[in-house]
Amino acid sequence: MDFKDYIRVIPDFPQPGISFKDITTLLKDGEVYRKAVDEIKQLVSDLKIDVIAGPEARGFVVGAPLAYALGVGFAPIRKSGKLPGETIEIGYDLEYGKDKLAMHTDAIEKGQNVLIADDLLATGGTIATSVNLVRQLGGNVVGAAFLIELEELNGRDKLTDVNVYSLMKY
Ligand code: 5GP
Repeated sequence: MDFKDYIRVIPDFPQPGISFKDITTLLKDGEVYRKAVDEIKQLVSDLKIDVIAGPEARGFVVGAPLAYALGVGFAPIRKSGKLPGETIEIGYDLEYGKDKLAMHTDAIEKGQNVLIADDLLATGGTIATSVNLVRQLGGNVVGAAFLIELEELNGRDKLTDVNVYSLMKY
């Protein structure tokens, strides 16, 4: 199956010049969505994973079913001000804009092996920040997994010490 057949490319969204990869066209097909998650599970099958961490909102859509499939926990990475408990926060630059990400201080136990999951790797800012959050909490980042990698934005360069797994490359 070519998963790219299920990705809708929308030009000039959310800004002129950005070619947005819309994953909703993949998600709405239950069989394809399940196959995509199963295939990511295969890509990371050599890793020992204790917890999956994923940034909101599309990181939940990839990370949570993967956590369920692996039988491990899921730790949400959220925008500033959303998590109710004690948090740590890190600011970062986006492909378009600026933001802050947060995790609960007790989301990860020291020494746990953490796989970070998101829908798409672009410049790598979101995932580099997620990696820093997990490491600040004492987690051991064993990899980062995506549905899509935009290769020309060189997100891997920001993740030199992290194994990157992606289902589709553009
Ligand atoms: P980065 O921080 O790597 O530059 O951007 C990745 C983040 O932005 C991801 O969380 C992703 O959800 C979002 N993003 C950026 N470009 C796209 C896109 O073309 N399609 C989708 N689905 N998400 C995108």
